[in-house]
Amino acid sequence: MARYMCMDTLKFLLFDVHQTQELLSYERFADYDLDSMNIILDSAKTWADQDFYPFYREMDDQPAYFKNGKVHSHHILDKIFKGAGEKGWIGSYFDYDDGGNQMPHSLANAANHILESANNHIPGYLGLTSGAAHLIATFGTQDLKKKFIPNMIAGKWGGTMALTEPQSGSSLSDIITSAKLAEEGYYLIKGQKIFISGGDHQGVENFVHLTLARIQGAPAGTKGISLFVVPKHRLNEDESMSYNDVCAVADFQKMGQRGYSTVHLVYGEQNDCHGYLVGEPNKGLQYMFQMMNGARIDVGMTAASTATAAYYHSLQYAKERPQGRKIQNTGKKDSSVGQTLIINHPDVRRMLLFQKSIVEASLSLLLECSKLSDITICEEGENKENSHLLLELLTPVAKTYPSEMGRIAINNGLQILGGYGYCMDFPLQQYLRDIRIMSIYEGTTGIQSLDLLGRKIPANNGKALQLLFKNMLKTINLAKELKSLSPYADELSKKINEIQKALEYLAPYALQGDYENYLADATIFMEMTSNIIIGHQWLKMAVSAQSALNNGKNTFDVLFYESKIQTMKFYFKYELPKTKACLETLLHSDKLTMVDEEKEIIF
Ligand SMILES: Cc1cc2nc3c(=O)[nH]c(=O)nc-3n(C[C@H](O)[C@H](O)[C@H](O)COP(=O)(O)OP(=O)(O)OC[C@H]3O[C@@H](n4cnc5c(N)ncnc54)[C@H](O)[C@@H]3O)c2cc1C
Repeated sequence: MARYMCMDTLKFLLFDVHQTQELLSYERFADYDLDSMNIILDSAKTWADQDFYPFYREMDDQPAYFKNGKVHSHHILDKIFKGAGEKGWIGSYFDYDDGGNQMPHSLANAANHILESANNHIPGYLGLTSGAAHLIATFGTQDLKKKFIPNMIAGKWGGTMALTEPQSGSSLSDIITSAKLAEEGYYLIKGQKIFISGGDHQGVENFVHLTLARIQGAPAGTKGISLFVVPKHRLNEDESMSYNDVCAVADFQKMGQRGYSTVHLVYGEQNDCHGYLVGEPNKGLQYMFQMMNGARIDVGMTAASTATAAYYHSLQYAKERPQGRKIQNTGKKDSSVGQTLIINHPDVRRMLLFQKSIVEASLSLLLECSKLSDITICEEGENKENSHLLLELLTPVAKTYPSEMGRIAINNGLQILGGYGYCMDFPLQQYLRDIRIMSIYEGTTGIQSLDLLGRKIPANNGKALQLLFKNMLKTINLAKELKSLSPYADELSKKINEIQKALEYLAPYALQGDYENYLADATIFMEMTSNIIIGHQWLKMAVSAQSALNNGKNTFDVLFYESKIQTMKFYFKYELPKTKACLETLLHSDKLTMVDEEKEIIF
C-alpha cells in the first residue's frame, strides 16, 4: 500500500512540539495516558488502511447519485458507520454523561488526520454526525438528547448541518426557511436547503438535519434565526417511526469529493415536517457557531490531510522516476552517464520541500487549535478566556491556509509527475479536484478573511493578537537560545512588525467607520498573517528538533530531526519573504476594488 501520511511526524507534532500529554493532568482526561493515546492512533491507522484508503479511487469512479427518490453512495459507508458506532468514534470527545469517551480533541483530531489522509470522502460523514449530535448535547433538552444522541453516536443515524439556501450562502441573514409553532409544541418547517453534505445516503437508517429556520414573525436578519432538529423519520410516542416530510430531491454532481453526497433537501411539501426547537428562539445562529467552528477546523484538517497524501504520492514518484542528468552532467549524453532520478533535480526538490513545508505546518497549526480547544474546556477564569480568544483568532487561519496553500502544494505534486500527473490513472488529479472545495464550503476564503480582520482582530481591544504575539515571542526567545536558530528567530520578530504596520495603516479606517476601506483587502491580510503564523509553527518545530538533537534524544532518528530543521529553513527562504509583497499591497494608497454602485462597473 502506498504511503499516505507519516505517523512519526504526527507523533512528533503531538508529543514533542505541542506537548499534548500535558492535557492528561486535567481530571476530564484522567482515563487516558500516553500508552492509550498511542494505541488509539495506531488503531486509527489500521482502520484507515483497511476501510478508508482502499476505496479512495473507487469513490471517485463511482460517485454518489440520486435515483428513485434516494441518494446512493459507495457501499463502504455501511461498514464505516457501523464500525464508527462500535468503536465509539462518533461521540469520542463527548462527555461521559452524553454517551461519549471524553477523548481530548487533540487526540480525536490527530486520529482524524490519519483517516482524512487515507480517504477524504469519508470522514466528513462522521464528523457532521458528531457535530450535529454534539450541538444537541450542548443546547438541547433532555428529551431531545434522549431521542437523538444514542442512535447518532451508535452510527445508526447520520447528522447534517443545514444552513445554505439558494439565495442565502455566505450571508445567512437571508435565510427564508420558515417554522410555524403547532399546537402540539413542535414547529412545522417549510423551505429548502441546498448543498447539504451527507444529507442522504444508504449507509444509515435515518438523518437528523440541524436546520436553521425563521420562526414566523421573527426579526429580520441574523437576529431572527432559530435552530431546529429535523429528522427524516420521526419517532412517534409508541416508538414507531414515520416519514417526517423532508426529503432529498437531488444530489449535486461535483468536480471533487464525488463520494461525499451533497444533497438538495425539500422540507414540508405536505405541510407535515416537524422540527424541534433547540434552545431559545432566535438564538440559532449563535448555537450553530459551535458546530461551524468545529467544522472549520475539520475542513482545515481535511485540506491538510489531502495535501499530505498528495505529497507522499509525489515523493514516491520522484524517488522512482529516472529522467535527465544531474546539472553538472548535462551535455554528457554518452552511455557512461546514466539518467538520474528526478528527486535529484533541484527544481523537483524545491517542489517537494514546498509541499512538505505547507502540509506539516498546517497540521501543526491544527493540532495547536485542538489543544486550545481542550484547554478552553478544562480551564477556568483567565486561562479559559485566553485560550478561547486565541482559538477564535486562529480558526479562520486554520481553515483557510491549508485549503488555499494545500491546493497549491498538490498542484506542485502534480507537476512532479509531469504528464502522468494530468492522467486519470494517477491520483494527483483527484487530490487536486478534491481539495478545491475546501476554500469554498464552511465559509469561503473571502468570508474567513473578513472574519479574521473584521471580528477576530478587533475583539476585546485586540487581546487575541497580543496573546498570539506573546506566544510567538516565547518561541523566538527559545530559538535564540539555540544559537543555530537565532537568525530565524530574528526573521520572525520582524514579521510581527509587519502585522503591526498593516494594522496601524488600516485601523484608522475602522475607527472612522469606513469599513469598506478597512476590509477591502482582508484576503491579502489573511495571506500575510497566515504565512507568518505558519512561519511560527516552523520555528516551533525547529526548536523541538534542535533541542532533541542537542539532548541526544532518540525518539526519532537524526535525519528525521534534521529534515524538520531543513524544511523550516526552506520555508523561511522561499515562503516567508512573500509577506513583504502583501504588506506593500496593503499599504498602497490606490483604491482599485472599491465599488460605487451608482457607476457602471469597469470590467
Ligand atoms: C460540496 C459542497 C458541500 C457543502 N456542504 C454544505 C453543508 O453541509 N451545509 C450547508 O449549509 N452548506 C453547505 N455548502 C454550502 C457552502 O457553505 C456555500 O456554497 C458557501 O458558503 C458559499 O455560498 P454560495 O455558494 O452561495 O456563494 P456566494 O455566497 O454567492 O459567494 C460567491 C462569491 O462571492 C463572495 N462573497 C459573498 N459575500 C461576500 C462578502 N460579503 N464579501 C466578500 N465576498 C463575498 C464569496 O467569497 C464567493 O467568492 C456546501 C457547498 C458545496 C459546494
